[in-house]
Amino acid sequence: MSDRLHTLSGYLYEYQKSVAQPEEFWARIADSFHWRKRWNKVLKWNFEGPDVKWFVDGKLNITENIFEKNLYTIGDRPAIIWEPNEPDEPTRTLTYRQLFREVCRFANALKAKGIGKGDRVIIYMPMVPEAAIAMLACARIGAIHSVVFAGFSSTSLADRINDCQAKAILTSDGNYRGNKKITVKGVVDEALEKSSVETVIVYRRTGQGTAMVPGRDFWWDEVLEGQSDENAAEEMDSEDMLFILYTSGSTGKPKGVVHTTGGYMVYTKYSFENVFQYSPGDVYWCTADIGWITGHSYIVYGPLLAGATTLMFEGVPTYPHPGRFWEVVEKHKVNVFYTAPTAIRALQAFGTEPIEGYDLSSLKVLGSVGEPINEEAWHWYHTHIGKGNCPIVDTWWQTETGGIMVSPLAGITPTKPAYATLPLPGIQLSIVDAEGNELTGNAVEGNLCIKFPWPSMIRTTYGDHERCKQTYFSTYKNMYFTGDGVKRDHDGYYRILGRVDDVINVSGHRMGTAEVENAINEHPKVIESAVVGYPHEVKGQGIYAYVICDMTNRTEDNLINEIKDTVSKIIGPIAKPDKIQIVPGLPKTRSGKIMRRILRKVAEGALDSMGDTSTLLDPEVVEKIIEGRK
Ligand code: ATP
Ligand code: MG
Repeated sequence: MSDRLHTLSGYLYEYQKSVAQPEEFWARIADSFHWRKRWNKVLKWNFEGPDVKWFVDGKLNITENIFEKNLYTIGDRPAIIWEPNEPDEPTRTLTYRQLFREVCRFANALKAKGIGKGDRVIIYMPMVPEAAIAMLACARIGAIHSVVFAGFSSTSLADRINDCQAKAILTSDGNYRGNKKITVKGVVDEALEKSSVETVIVYRRTGQGTAMVPGRDFWWDEVLEGQSDENAAEEMDSEDMLFILYTSGSTGKPKGVVHTTGGYMVYTKYSFENVFQYSPGDVYWCTADIGWITGHSYIVYGPLLAGATTLMFEGVPTYPHPGRFWEVVEKHKVNVFYTAPTAIRALQAFGTEPIEGYDLSSLKVLGSVGEPINEEAWHWYHTHIGKGNCPIVDTWWQTETGGIMVSPLAGITPTKPAYATLPLPGIQLSIVDAEGNELTGNAVEGNLCIKFPWPSMIRTTYGDHERCKQTYFSTYKNMYFTGDGVKRDHDGYYRILGRVDDVINVSGHRMGTAEVENAINEHPKVIESAVVGYPHEVKGQGIYAYVICDMTNRTEDNLINEIKDTVSKIIGPIAKPDKIQIVPGLPKTRSGKIMRRILRKVAEGALDSMGDTSTLLDPEVVEKIIEGRK
């Protein structure tokens, strides 16, 4: 049974209903899942605590809703298609039945090592099917997983192990990423000098050797030996923790966001089917890493709950060549493709040549997530990848929201470049001014809040409920504060303007960083840009732009003037950057987000207070930017 919406009027009608009678609405959606015991009450909540409970006293196991519920009808359908880093290494496909068997065997192996309900398990693994198997096996036995991106340093890993007091780590010997072979287990060993766990289970991926600590370290294949392929799922309460996931750290020290079982299950499947308009049999590919929330909700849980075929890719967009994504789309006849603006812009810089020769005609829907997508990248994606035929779903959401909050429904909601458009059913947005007054009507701009609970929302930050309260529920009374700025235009469409902390106030005019970057990126020689404010004697704040450019046939000075003119034309002279620095790269988190807080420090000249940089992809870029500071 699917709860897919099919028309714009259907969506608008359902939206209205979901606001007028949220409990009835979500009860209807939740009724299509298998509950061992149905809930007593749909929702109990207050945002002061905060204390939010969905499907109160309901009992279930999320994996029963992926497997037992679907096996009879779709057991032989591919669940996971795996595309390895090297194009000539064989692809692996696991049907729902095969995946179920692997999940049960690994669940039994975990139990045999004494891991059970409520224990925290860190998953620090490459993008291989075993990473998904590990997540599902944890869910099967009621252990709480915390996936850490397998590119993080030993210090970042140790911080997370300590923060959630993990009992075990699931990892691999090594990892292939592009032309690199990366040591993984070695990083775990280093992390364990600063923290401790009882058990480490190591998947053989690269075959490189690693020292094994007797009694602590075990090989994956060995723990599986003799394990039965039957496993009785643990009965979980709807509000039992499903996982902890640390945020990207774009704005500060990562937060251990906690998601619980029932609500997360209901919302990820519902949003997956509706946003992407997934039809049975479609091949769906999300290029995120499972270390991010996108990987959790829209590679693993959402698609598998919907009985979809989800593609997992181990490699990087540019290896062995910048046409790799398109090669994979052709090879697996991908129908739905979901990626991040950072990847789109990076590929755009190679021009259209790498796309030529690949058959992209299987594509029906394109998606974007992670940052505002600027108009130029949107058009490039639409024209050259979608060939003008594929709706783009620009999906706004956060680790804390668990699922997509604002997005077009593919092919249903008319799109507008750079707009995330409209909220999903059940999502009650509110735009407030600095004092917390709700701005009603259209053509308004302010801070984005959510004024009513939704099933997949954050419940707490692990081990520190006060931090959750302070960060999200204290800025404005009775609202969840997203930290993002937003504009609702005259059509009622939403456009995310970037983080509120990044909003720049020039002589009393408020501007979103995304807006100014969008204008800069319209210049044909600009590849990517990042804008921040800095103290300015006259204007209060000045605009400092860091820009990556193609410098052929241009000098720095004429390029800078041209960029200023471009911004003047698109937004107006008020938005003209005061300083433009041409840079070789931008500081990004491992998930590809620009760390503007570091750029702000550079612009301010506060070079000795950079804050937490543990999730930075390439620290050398920061040094180069400091050297060229204006
Ligand atoms: P931290 O909270 O640790 O600073 P983070 O906010 O980068 O890290 P995520 O939860 O991965 O961690 O990212 C959510 C943020 O990403 C949103 O708050 C928003 O700023 C941005 N974002 C995500 N998708 C979109 C989108 N489609 N349009 C605009 N912004 C987006
Ligand atoms: Mg955030």
